[in-house]
Amino acid sequence: MDYDVIIIGAGPGGIFAAYELSKENSDLKIAVFEAGNELSKRKCPIDGVRVKSCINCERCSIMSGFGGAGAFSDGKYNITNDFGGTLHEYIGKEEAIRLMHYVDSINVSHGGEGTRLYTTANTKLKTICMQNKLQLLDASVRHLGTDINYVVLENLYTELKEKAEFRFCTPVKHIEIVDGGYKVITDEGEYTASKCIVSVGRSGSKWMEQICKELDIPTQSNRVDLGVRVELPAALFAHLTDELYESKIVYRTEKFEDKVRTFCMNPKGSVVTENTNGIITVNGHSYEDPAKQTGNTNFALLVSKHFSFPFKDSNGYGESIARLSNMLGGGVIVQRFGDLIRGRRTNHNRLADSFTIPTLKAEPGDLSLVLPKRILDGIIEMIYALDKIAPGTANDDTLLYGVEVKFYNMEVSVNERLETKHSGLYMIGDGSGVTHSLSHASASGVFVARDILGIS
Ligand SMILES: Cc1cc2nc3c(=O)[nH]c(=O)nc-3n(C[C@H](O)[C@H](O)[C@H](O)COP(=O)(O)OP(=O)(O)OC[C@H]3O[C@@H](n4cnc5c(N)ncnc54)[C@H](O)[C@@H]3O)c2cc1C
Repeated sequence: MDYDVIIIGAGPGGIFAAYELSKENSDLKIAVFEAGNELSKRKCPIDGVRVKSCINCERCSIMSGFGGAGAFSDGKYNITNDFGGTLHEYIGKEEAIRLMHYVDSINVSHGGEGTRLYTTANTKLKTICMQNKLQLLDASVRHLGTDINYVVLENLYTELKEKAEFRFCTPVKHIEIVDGGYKVITDEGEYTASKCIVSVGRSGSKWMEQICKELDIPTQSNRVDLGVRVELPAALFAHLTDELYESKIVYRTEKFEDKVRTFCMNPKGSVVTENTNGIITVNGHSYEDPAKQTGNTNFALLVSKHFSFPFKDSNGYGESIARLSNMLGGGVIVQRFGDLIRGRRTNHNRLADSFTIPTLKAEPGDLSLVLPKRILDGIIEMIYALDKIAPGTANDDTLLYGVEVKFYNMEVSVNERLETKHSGLYMIGDGSGVTHSLSHASASGVFVARDILGIS
């Protein structure tokens, strides 16, 4: 065998697997194959001047490379079993929380010291939410911020590159079962190892489908989350964000009894675009450094849809809706809440008059021509519900950007050790469908590393 362990993907799942393996056994020969670039070479060409929008690079620097999809993210590490994945269903609730705290301690010791850990424990806001038919989910969240998150990754890479062999710009094409282990096939060559950890995230979803078919590993369709990103003056949400940073709030609509939830809250942050396989959607982030903060807070409002029969392709449904918004707006569409409820599009004049200044240059338009009525009705209801705990949320000038889509990978069939039916082949992180967040993906990496090492 060329290596003891081959890890495919250098996102949080792969990084933390490599970290734990090399920390506990420095004799192990570990290789990490990554489709994207090393961290310092990850540069998105959009500069707002020469390149204004996505040019669909062969390797998207935002989604691929050391640090994975989370490298330029807000770096919010939520320590909770209530959202962010279903890792606890495999490894148990206590173990999942323990590992997420362990990951947090590593982040803190690699540059995250000085950042704050927020918690919902003992907050009065929970009662206020309940009184208004809203449910505040329990969590602790470490907000590293886009800037410190990058520093932590730099420090982890400096340490890891001495202990593991990183092969960047080397996507794995196929995995084959060989006597005593696995062979990974790349354009540069073929390499064997007795254990293989696959952690290819969302950008590797199509590839995962192919690999699961080739290795006869059962899969199940997953859900898709659809909605909008809300942007409003930071002062309106300050009582929530100052205490909790990010609040995950769930509302059950009166009309359809659908659940709408807040997601990825960015106090004093910016709204940004995201490119998933050529489809432009919206996202948000914020910096820890006050000099880079804005006067606005943004968060997503999402509704989950899961298709099973006869149509199974939940992601395909989300993609079609995102494509529709891209067709009508050339990318992301922005609409004032006041225009949406009056049934008219936002145009450039109305947007220019808005008291809320947008942080993303998006095309003013009409989201009711894009989002299905049921989803849009739910979002409007939720905005009025939030208005009761954060008056001003339902102001005319609250900006809605669409569409926000959270694609989830299909769920790969793995056992309680996150191992596939093939002994020594593990599938972890967002690519396995088990996790959907930085904390859960990282914890899954530590978990399988310990499983391979025979420690728990
Ligand atoms: C803009 C943005 C903001 C986010 N903000 C947050 C946040 O604040 N908090 C949070 O919890 N989550 C956030 N997320 C989600 C979070 O980034 C992911 O949940 C997390 O990165 C998943 O980790 P992972 O290791 O499973 O996969 P990824 O991070 O996706 O890493 C997978 C890696 O595998 C590589 N790869 C894919 N296919 C192959 C192949 N065939 N061969 C070799 N390599 C391959 C990819 O290039 C990639 O680098 C955000 C995501 C985005 C896009």
